Amino acid sequence: VKLELDNTYPILYMDDGARISARCVLIATGASYRRLGIAGGDMFDGVGVYYAATPMEAQACKGADVAVVGGANSAGQAAVFLAEHARKVLLLIRGDDLNKGMSRYLSRRIEQTANIEVLFHTEITGLAGERHLEEIVLADNRTGATRKLATPAVFTFIGARPHTEWLKGCVDTDPDGFIRTGVAVSVSGSGAAQRQPYFLETSLPGVFAAGDVRHGSMKRVASAVGEGAMAVAFVHDYLRSG
Ligand SMILES: Cc1cc2nc3c(=O)[nH]c(=O)nc-3n(C[C@H](O)[C@H](O)[C@H](O)COP(=O)(O)OP(=O)(O)OC[C@H]3O[C@@H](n4cnc5c(N)ncnc54)[C@H](O)[C@@H]3O)c2cc1C
Repeated sequence: VKLELDNTYPILYMDDGARISARCVLIATGASYRRLGIAGGDMFDGVGVYYAATPMEAQACKGADVAVVGGANSAGQAAVFLAEHARKVLLLIRGDDLNKGMSRYLSRRIEQTANIEVLFHTEITGLAGERHLEEIVLADNRTGATRKLATPAVFTFIGARPHTEWLKGCVDTDPDGFIRTGVAVSVSGSGAAQRQPYFLETSLPGVFAAGDVRHGSMKRVASAVGEGAMAVAFVHDYLRSG
């Protein structure tokens, strides 16, 4: 529930009142992904509703019309990537301006990609299918008008919340609360160490972070597991060094 520095050692406080002092701490508390908020929508997780767009998911939408939900850079990057595989990509945003949440270079790229169509003021209100997603319902949030779209895949990028509240600001995070490590700490100038932090080391020397909770992480199982394994090597280096 809390991390604190006592002289030089980090101290962890548990919810049962226990207090653990350790020379090194590895934070791997992950993040929660905002869901579409549609009743029964969770049953399509991994079978039509995806939270990442990698070559694996891209295979599932070859030649199909797919939807990407979100108005920030992650949604824009996914739309551009998926446009290389899908017949058509519908980018659904709640507002009326692509440039509000997205870098200009990306919105320009979207405008220039023939098979991406941006639907403003649009939200998904329904998901349907037997074992796999087959159809979604799109609603215009100004008029309430709805229409159906046949699609095997919806990609949602509507925000992730890192589990870092318990740190109460004692390690440096980005504005969204993800923990900065390595070079990102040096660039932000928040590191307390006299040396360059290790790749997975936070702004507190000896405190490491791995997986979804880390700023810039891939948000995939394989990368989270890989970072966990790498962190162990850095912990050994840290302990050896003094
Ligand atoms: C719906 C969904 C589908 C996904 N599909 C895929 C997929 O197909 N392929 C893929 O590669 N990735 C997928 N991902 C992403 C993948 O799940 C994550 O990238 C991965 O689980 C990250 O691992 P992690 O260990 O960093 O965090 P997590 O797996 O989130 O683990 C964090 C753990 O820390 C615990 N915790 C949180 N706060 C505290 C605290 N204060 N004290 C103690 N414990 C705490 C949590 O309870 C949790 O057990 C999906 C994610 C979601 C949400």
